Amino acid sequence: MKKVTIFEGDGIGPEVIQAVCKIIKASKAPLAFDFQIAGKKAFENNFKTGVTDDAMNSIYENKTVLKGPLETPVGYGDRSANVALRKLCQTYANIRPAKHFPHIRSHFQTVPVDLIVIRENLEDLYAGIEHQQTPSVAQSLKVMTTLGCERICRFAFEYALSLNRQKVTCVTKANIMKATEGLLKSVFEKCAKDYPQLEADHMIVDNCAHQLVVAPDQFDMIVTSNLNGDILSDLTSGLVGGLGIASSANIGSKYSIFEAVHGSAPDIAGKNSANPMALIFASIMMLHHLEFVNEAKMIENAIVSVLKEGIFTSDLASSTEDSVGTNEFSDAIIDAMIPVTEFIPHHTKFEVPSNPLPLSGFPDQYSSVSAIDIFLSSKKSLETIVAEILKLLDGSPFLLQYVWNRGTLVYPDLIETNDFVDQWQCQFSRQDGAPLQKSDTKNLLEIIEKSFEWMHIEKIFDRGT
Ligand code: NAP
Repeated sequence: MKKVTIFEGDGIGPEVIQAVCKIIKASKAPLAFDFQIAGKKAFENNFKTGVTDDAMNSIYENKTVLKGPLETPVGYGDRSANVALRKLCQTYANIRPAKHFPHIRSHFQTVPVDLIVIRENLEDLYAGIEHQQTPSVAQSLKVMTTLGCERICRFAFEYALSLNRQKVTCVTKANIMKATEGLLKSVFEKCAKDYPQLEADHMIVDNCAHQLVVAPDQFDMIVTSNLNGDILSDLTSGLVGGLGIASSANIGSKYSIFEAVHGSAPDIAGKNSANPMALIFASIMMLHHLEFVNEAKMIENAIVSVLKEGIFTSDLASSTEDSVGTNEFSDAIIDAMIPVTEFIPHHTKFEVPSNPLPLSGFPDQYSSVSAIDIFLSSKKSLETIVAEILKLLDGSPFLLQYVWNRGTLVYPDLIETNDFVDQWQCQFSRQDGAPLQKSDTKNLLEIIEKSFEWMHIEKIFDRGT
């Protein structure tokens, strides 16, 4: 008997989880459920991550989680319990399929949508590295790594192969964010060479959003960064019927978490009106992953016959009078289950590639520092700041090369605007063009500190390109 850790979650969570557990039991999949606590109750009991210690121990033992939505309380607790779970379990790949399901209406039902979004799940702006740098400037760091990019790209290619898919499209904003999104693009292009049997192309994210609406059938599989994937996968759910049916899997090399995409919907909690279908689809993904393929197929077939009979929860019914409640809907699925006897070849287990090797073409370390960015906090005017810095540097080996405000270059070509904020990114190098040494950084800071407050410094490495 395989054990699965279950979180009922908050709001409509307990209703939809109970419905799904009942359906899985009726399918006779050899699964035992280990109910644990996360989300609101865990925050209320002072677990800062929103996940109890017992729950984490259960996950470490069982490796597989099926969860209801977890509320992120506003005003207390650490961050989101969902984000904490993904980080604690290192589930780096988020998989969200979008496929037209028979009898479910959508604005796009005449177009054959059948695509999967693979979203990097741990890095990017979701790394949660945020700072209030000055009273008027907040900053969030977008962190993307070769490890994270290679892992997600290889995952996408391997998963595409296991599903006999033809094409993987890498979606980035590499035209603007060349270092971070550009890294994903270049890692994708390098990895693609190892999968010549698959078509690999690249699309800029804004164009992708447009293309998904005008011609969604051109997509087979999309691999993208965390924020892009979060937004695009909600869009793709909308193409095929919306939140009521959207499911997702969070996969890592040790643990897997299966859940609906929707949240705790507090407005309809406890009313027996929530649609359990998104979580049922998530449980079908879980059954495939655990290789209980026939049970997964039996539940899927039962959903098709229930929908064919015109049995819907209120979110998908043509009128409220024609709808049934959460319990009645799940009972109808159980009644419609017919054991699947034919052999179904298994090809949807999430194969996690073994730890990626470092890709060739990316240096192990950078050898020299060509410049230093010092972020200053100052309410003085641009002209005053520049004049004071030039005076401070007089007679030193250092040169003020550039100044940016809110990412706009404002020196050496001074621009006229009143929109400056009190954070100035100043780039310094050596006058003789030599690389900066450790002592140079210290000396430069000592000079700048004579007149300015600084809150952040960044070394600019010579990447040899
Ligand atoms: P939400 O819970 O997804 O609900 C938005 C609306 O969608 C609901 O008010 C309801 O609309 C409809 N809806 C969602 N799921 C449904 C279902 N199964 N059946 C029928 N209708 C459904 O989004 P939210 O209100 O923004 O978030 C509420 C809480 O959930 C927040 O604390 C958020 O942090 C959390 N959340 C958790 C997860 C997760 O655990 N993975 C994901 C997202 C949000 P109507 O009844 O008005 O039609």
